[in-house]
Amino acid sequence: MSRERIAAVALGSNLGDSEAHLSFAVTQLDGTPGVACEAVTPHELTAPLGGLDQPAYLNAMVRVRTTLSPAAFLEVCHAIERAAGRERPAKWASRTLDLDIVCMSDAMCDRPDLTLPHPGLRDRPFWARQLAVLEAM
Ligand code: ADP
Ligand code: MG
Repeated sequence: MSRERIAAVALGSNLGDSEAHLSFAVTQLDGTPGVACEAVTPHELTAPLGGLDQPAYLNAMVRVRTTLSPAAFLEVCHAIERAAGRERPAKWASRTLDLDIVCMSDAMCDRPDLTLPHPGLRDRPFWARQLAVLEAM
């Protein structure tokens, strides 16, 4: 247990029933003790990063309140990915479900397994847009 923080979690899927995977992620997050979902952006399609030859990604961002530590919350996110059948055959591979913690209140972390705020904010303009949408919700 940790002090309460507000986290933004980026959801992405480009394999299988992406709508269902994103909804599953929100339900699972909200059903986790110590985590409560407050708002979810509309789902939007984005092109794969780096011009990869892959199906488009369905993305959304969710705002949660959590009393879990950043490390414990990351483990929750990984468990939800696994439950949705996530496999990691290669970096950047298509995925059923990806949960990236974009930021977690003022938490700062600089490890490969957990970097906060998420460095991907630099090259994913739609994350910045979705953060602004969440702010207004
Ligand atoms: P991607 O970078 O495409 O999201 P993965 O989902 O496979 O790829 O994540 C790669 C690694 O990034 C994971 O091992 C995870 O622990 C690590 N990671 C570092 N910071 C974060 C973060 N803020 N949110 C989620 N995963 C993170
Ligand atoms: Mg990820």
